Amino acid sequence: MPFTNQIMNNNYHTHMYLCRHADGDVKDYVEKAIELGFKSIGMSDHAPFAELKDRSVRMHLSDLKIYIIKCDNAIEKYKNKIKVYKALEIEYFPQHKKIYPEYLKYMDYLALGQHYIFDAESKNNLRSAYALSTLEHLESYVDTVVEAMSTGYFKFVCHPDLMLYNIKHFNCDITRISKKLIQGAIDSNVPLEINSNGIRKGLKETEDGLRYIYPRKEFWQLVKKMGARVIISSDAHQVDQLFDEDVIKAYQFANDLDIVVEEELMF
Ligand SMILES: [Zn+2]
Ligand SMILES: [Zn+2]
Repeated sequence: MPFTNQIMNNNYHTHMYLCRHADGDVKDYVEKAIELGFKSIGMSDHAPFAELKDRSVRMHLSDLKIYIIKCDNAIEKYKNKIKVYKALEIEYFPQHKKIYPEYLKYMDYLALGQHYIFDAESKNNLRSAYALSTLEHLESYVDTVVEAMSTGYFKFVCHPDLMLYNIKHFNCDITRISKKLIQGAIDSNVPLEINSNGIRKGLKETEDGLRYIYPRKEFWQLVKKMGARVIISSDAHQVDQLFDEDVIKAYQFANDLDIVVEEELMF
C-alpha cells in the first residue's frame, strides 16, 4: 500500500540531481507527489551562481537548460494529475539585481535561499550562513534578506533561521535582529519557511538542552507573536524526503507553537 498523507498538499521546495547534492530526477519527485496525493509540487533546485566557487553544491550554468526542459516536460506530461511549478532556490546578491526579473520571465517563482552574505574579510568576499558569529554578520544577513523580500522577486524565504546556526543563546540582541527579519517579511507579505531539512539533521545537545539547530523555537515563537505568514517545506533532496517523518515533525513543531501554516500559495 502506498504511504498516504493527510497533512501536506503542496510542497514548494524540492531539489533534484542537477544541483549535485540531491538524488532523483524531476519526474521521480512528481510521481511521488502524485502518489502522496499532493495538489502541486514546486521544483526549486539550487540556481547556478558564478560567485559561488564551490560549484559542487550548485547547478552548473550549462545544466540550467536541461533543468528547464525536464520541468517543462513534467508540467506537460502530468498536467491532468498534478500542478508542477518550475522554480529555483536562489541567493540574493544586490549587485545581480538584474538576473531575478530575467529568471521570472520563465520561472513560476523564486525561493530565497540565502546561504551567504557579502563579507569583505572573507575569502571570495562571501561568508557562509553556517559561519555567522557576530552581531554584525547577523545584521548583514538580515539586511540582505529584508532587502530581498522588498524587491517582490521571491515567493517565500527558505529557512530564515539558518542565520542562527552558530548562535548559542537567543539573547535580547538576537531577539531584536530576528524581529527585524520577521517585520520585513510582514511588510513585504512574504511567507517564512519552517524547513524540514533542519529537522532531518536531528536534535542536538546544546547548552540550552536538546534542540534542533534549525528550526529554532525562539525564532518561531516571535514569528507567531508578530503574525508573519508561515509555510512548511520538505526541502527534499531525495524522493523519500518529499513527505517523511521529519515533515510530520515540522508540522508538529508548528502545532506546538500554535502557528497556523499556509498550505497553499497563490500564483
Ligand atoms: Zn540543497
Ligand atoms: Zn533547498
